[in-house]
Amino acid sequence: MADPMTAEVQPKTTVPETSCARLLIVEDDSSLTAGLTRALTLDGHEVACVANGELALERLQATAFDLMVLDIGLPGIDGFEVLRRLRAIGQRIPVLILTARDAIGDRVHGLDLGADDYMVKPFDPDVLRARVQALLRRADRPLTPSLHWGALALDRDGHGARYGEQPLLLTGTEHRLLEALLQARGSTCSKALLLQAAWNWAESPGSDSVRTHIKNLRAKLAALGAPLDLVETVYGVGFRMNPDHAA
Ligand code: CA
Repeated sequence: MADPMTAEVQPKTTVPETSCARLLIVEDDSSLTAGLTRALTLDGHEVACVANGELALERLQATAFDLMVLDIGLPGIDGFEVLRRLRAIGQRIPVLILTARDAIGDRVHGLDLGADDYMVKPFDPDVLRARVQALLRRADRPLTPSLHWGALALDRDGHGARYGEQPLLLTGTEHRLLEALLQARGSTCSKALLLQAAWNWAESPGSDSVRTHIKNLRAKLAALGAPLDLVETVYGVGFRMNPDHAA
């Protein structure tokens, strides 16, 4: 259940254990691109750079990359739109977004759209290298491809989910919340645990956010005919998948 992301934030200067990967950097600031390239090639990665969103989408169609470092502020279509289009077609490449210092909303929005991690500018290149390594290692981990609870099925490799035969369209946050609940297999997940599972990083948006997202999740499930108490409230503690609907 623990997310390896939180375990790997220390600067890392030793030879990485993840073998070299093919990375795409999408950044319109050429000096930053040069710095990123320098830092990431230190770990033996092959790095390609583009300076706008349209080119990024073209490159991603043509070449299989292992990870993308994506600036949010880009000319033309911005990083959010690149991410949205990518996830909309089921592309699960790990994405680390770069956001401006004061734009906390950007980070939350990016994570909701399916970003895997973020760095706030300006950042320490060693920390970036460590984050990239952590994401690459996580992507290597074999996962159970899908989780089930009654008629509900959730793909872990992507954002897909179904209730019966109907697609259940989830935001990144809803997907992560549901994944944590399904992994617990009917045990209660505290709000703190769900916050950690769905948001991962330092600035937890608060337990009210968990409630809000669970409410949205229930509404989406109910619209597909799921029982209203499929995701059950455990008063004063948190939430769980209702064991009555497990089969
Ligand atoms: Ca920029």
